Amino acid sequence: MEASRTTDLSPVELTAVEIAEHVKKGDITAEAVTKATLDRIDTFNPKVNAFLHVSRDEALEAARAVDQKRARGEALGVLAGVPVAIKDALSTRGTPTTSASKILEGYIPPYDATVITRLRAADAILPGKTNMDEFAMGSSNENSAYGTVKNPWDLTRTPGGSSGGSAAAVAARFTSTSLGSDTGGSIRQPAALTGTFGFKPTYGRVSRFGLIAFASSLDQIGPFASDVRGAARVLSVISGRDTKDATTLEAAVPDFEAACTRGVKGLRIGVPEEYFQKGLDPEVEASVRGALAELEKAGCIIKPVSLPHTRFAVATYYVIATAEASSNLARFDGIRYGLRVEPERGGIKDLYGATRDRGFGKEVKRRILLGTFVLSAGYYDAYYLKAQKVRTLIKQDFDKAFESVDVICAPTSPTPAFKLGEKSNDPLAMYLSDIYTLPASLAGLPAASMPVAPTKSGLPIGFQMVGRALEEETLFALAAFMEPSSPLRSFPKLS
Ligand code: GLN
Repeated sequence: MEASRTTDLSPVELTAVEIAEHVKKGDITAEAVTKATLDRIDTFNPKVNAFLHVSRDEALEAARAVDQKRARGEALGVLAGVPVAIKDALSTRGTPTTSASKILEGYIPPYDATVITRLRAADAILPGKTNMDEFAMGSSNENSAYGTVKNPWDLTRTPGGSSGGSAAAVAARFTSTSLGSDTGGSIRQPAALTGTFGFKPTYGRVSRFGLIAFASSLDQIGPFASDVRGAARVLSVISGRDTKDATTLEAAVPDFEAACTRGVKGLRIGVPEEYFQKGLDPEVEASVRGALAELEKAGCIIKPVSLPHTRFAVATYYVIATAEASSNLARFDGIRYGLRVEPERGGIKDLYGATRDRGFGKEVKRRILLGTFVLSAGYYDAYYLKAQKVRTLIKQDFDKAFESVDVICAPTSPTPAFKLGEKSNDPLAMYLSDIYTLPASLAGLPAASMPVAPTKSGLPIGFQMVGRALEEETLFALAAFMEPSSPLRSFPKLS
């Protein structure tokens, strides 16, 4: 599809920072921005299926409250009037939250996730909840219980997963920013496949309180955005210690937006040879190498590095993530939340069984079975414990590489967006599409995906950058430097 960017000040084309500035100055109201957002969702969401729930009245009410605050002369938050689409894995008080699972149909959380509380406090507007793979398990959105998301660049293709709805919402410019979660690539891979900027922060940077847990030693929340500063601003708002999530770090939150103007001269970029092997699409490789060559011309130092345990990442991840998932998902029993299936006969165990059988989709069941198996008494040492040891080796690969470079760059995904249905019956092929995103997740490192030159047929390609723990600023500096020559600001025509 053809890319476009017109010059009028339609709220749909403004970045998050531009919206907040215009709302503060008063040359546009938060209500007008919100109406334009809801109109665009009404018109195009039926094609894209990015939203599971649209919070029309609540969003308009919140927008009017921001406008009234301004009229009273009160100071506005840094996301004043900025619509932010929210992955349905995040609990939103009073708004349905399903994690795209039938088992949570009808569940309305009585509380907000910490990231939601922080967005509201910054005067952001939440227009709705986005579609995803059920419980964030998947790489194509085809595991949603509510229909797949379509890639706005080509409606016959996947937007990636699991945060495909949040990625598509930004790609289609329903909103300029959104929140996703990334356990093994679920922000970066859909960002790559939809030509958006996606950012997974360091493990512990952002509170997961209120995130429906998938694999707790890996899950992180982060933004998608139509520009780099938008993501920086959202990340600044949601980051920082939270007493409700003991894994959050005490570290001070830097000014991520300020890092965007730092430049990249002298930046040492490591290129891992293991990420450029069999299975990598030639167009993806050419585009990523082209971007690296430009960075070298701009004064970066490009060095080969080795991450020798990369080839164990898929196996390691699928042992650890399924083990943790099998434990996290035990809470969905038909008693406390959402769906309850009353069995024809029997007692409470039959109720658990009937509810879980009806409520969980195929991939979720597969993972619960796998995870329960690797944790079982006879196999724990052989699988789970072994995977934990390999995880340490993978982390040590990065530690070693970061002795001589500041950032590691590689493709985000081995291929551009694949066709819907292409891998849905082959779980292994699907798992392999995460091969480049899993290692940074296992190591807990910050990582982002930035669009680089698209394929000949116009499909987006993502350039991944991985930083040292708590050095998100380096990634913002690099992405912002690449932005003027990146296709990030173009978006597909949907009409
Ligand atoms: N695609 C990977 C999986 O299926 C990663 C998902 C995620 O990061 N939530 O587990």
